[in-house]
Amino acid sequence: STQIQLASRPEGWPADENFSTVRVELPDLAEGEVRVRNEAVSVDPYMRGRMTDAESYVEPFAVGETMTGGAVGRVVESSSEDLPVGTPVLHQLGWRDLAQGPAEQFRAVREPEGAPLSLYLGILGMPGLTAYTGLTQAAGLREGDTVFVSGAAGAVGTAVGQIARLLGAGRVLGSAGSGEKVELLTGKYGYDAAVNYKDAPIREQLPEMAGEDGVDVYFDNVGGDHLEAALDVLNRNGRVAVCGAISQYNATEATPGPDNLAQLIKNSLRLQGFTVGDYLQHAEEFNRRMLEWFSEGRIAYDETVVEGIENAPEAFVSMMRGANQGKMVVRV
Ligand code: NDP
Repeated sequence: STQIQLASRPEGWPADENFSTVRVELPDLAEGEVRVRNEAVSVDPYMRGRMTDAESYVEPFAVGETMTGGAVGRVVESSSEDLPVGTPVLHQLGWRDLAQGPAEQFRAVREPEGAPLSLYLGILGMPGLTAYTGLTQAAGLREGDTVFVSGAAGAVGTAVGQIARLLGAGRVLGSAGSGEKVELLTGKYGYDAAVNYKDAPIREQLPEMAGEDGVDVYFDNVGGDHLEAALDVLNRNGRVAVCGAISQYNATEATPGPDNLAQLIKNSLRLQGFTVGDYLQHAEEFNRRMLEWFSEGRIAYDETVVEGIENAPEAFVSMMRGANQGKMVVRV
């Protein structure tokens, strides 16, 4: 099996030398094990945190071990009755072309109709669940709320805009890092308005976009300047789902905090940080509702696909630089 390992811990932006590609001889299957040929593996922002040797909500990756994470594929060899050959599965064994282990490490999934299996790495999977629970649990979305989401054209972001709408939000606003992404948001994804944060400081652009109406829920994927801008425009009793801070993940120096936290007091705002792991009790509800929306044709999606498992590191870094529309995946 071809696998990508963490060779050394990056400082700042990860580079080629932080990864190595290795060939691993797989042993014969033991009783109850399966072998899976991966179709797609996921590259996610949280992996950057795991490359650093610091305490967090997930264990750091070990240097010299294969990068783990979301992946989908099909069983090609099986000594387990639960997962016969051909079963499509989702698992967490990550950046490798062949994955092997006890059947319990793999979850059988339903083939999405007319769509690739890799949607289980995006809108039908962890990023979709993050969007759903961030809105319903962390932010306590109410009907008619105006929602602003940053990182709006990414995996979580594209899910947030659509799910907010489906749950009865009022206006849906977004920010992203290119004119093309802004068009995608206001076109295909039906956002009421969107801005390119690279055109001018987000703190200048957001008040104009939000207008008199303001913002009730801010879904924060970016942190830093975006959080600060949102605090300025949040209405009384506004809520922030603090989901990510990607503007800071590759920083080598401490980043400044918002200078307007007093807005929390003035407007009785609530900031709720969360990880999707906090809300796994809502996964079944999400799966049911999302599959229903999906089969009704009410869910749009985009994938940016990088070919070849050996290109996973490049896919990972270019995702953090904004090369993706929707979910970035590596096709094996
Ligand atoms: P995306 O698909 O959104 O990809 C990352 C995007 O971040 C890039 O495409 C880029 O888009 C944007 N970005 C990078 N740097 C900056 C910057 N300085 N300012 C603004 N935008 C930037 O990734 P995901 O959807 O997988 O993740 C989105 C966020 O959600 C991340 O912060 C991630 O850590 C978080 N997350 C949190 C989870 C949780 O449990 N709390 C679970 C999953 C994700 P652009 O071109 O617009 O700059």
